[in-house]
Amino acid sequence: MNDCLFCAMADGKIKADIVYRDDRVIAFKDIKPRAPVHLLIIPRKHLAGVLDIEPDDGPIIGEIFQVAARLARDQGIAESGFRIVVNSGPDAGQSVFHLHYHLIGGRQMSWPPG
Ligand code: 5GP
Ligand code: ZN
Repeated sequence: MNDCLFCAMADGKIKADIVYRDDRVIAFKDIKPRAPVHLLIIPRKHLAGVLDIEPDDGPIIGEIFQVAARLARDQGIAESGFRIVVNSGPDAGQSVFHLHYHLIGGRQMSWPPG
């Protein structure tokens, strides 16, 4: 999609610190990490957010969670623990409108989130 930051990253038009890529999914370091490990996992396909996920997208969403688990192991946070977060809409503070899953870990986190 034109004018989408994460599409541009997925297409290699804007530089990203990519830690995983395949035909459907990429993962890269968040530019403003909130924890020692803070990755963003996205589908290459442009979906603006959770509300745009359709039944056909089921496999890609499943793959995103598989990639998240693999990256959690790779990053050494599988045992200590981690959080997978998707912000949707203004109350949650969504700021980029291409579906993305935050993978956050490497420090103690509080609950409920702020
Ligand atoms: P949201 O607030 O929509 O849940 O998350 C968007 C995330 O994208 C934020 O954590 C923000 O730091 C990250 N982000 C915004 N612009 C860039 C960028 O240009 N590069 C990278 N790597 N991350 C970005
Ligand atoms: Zn996009």
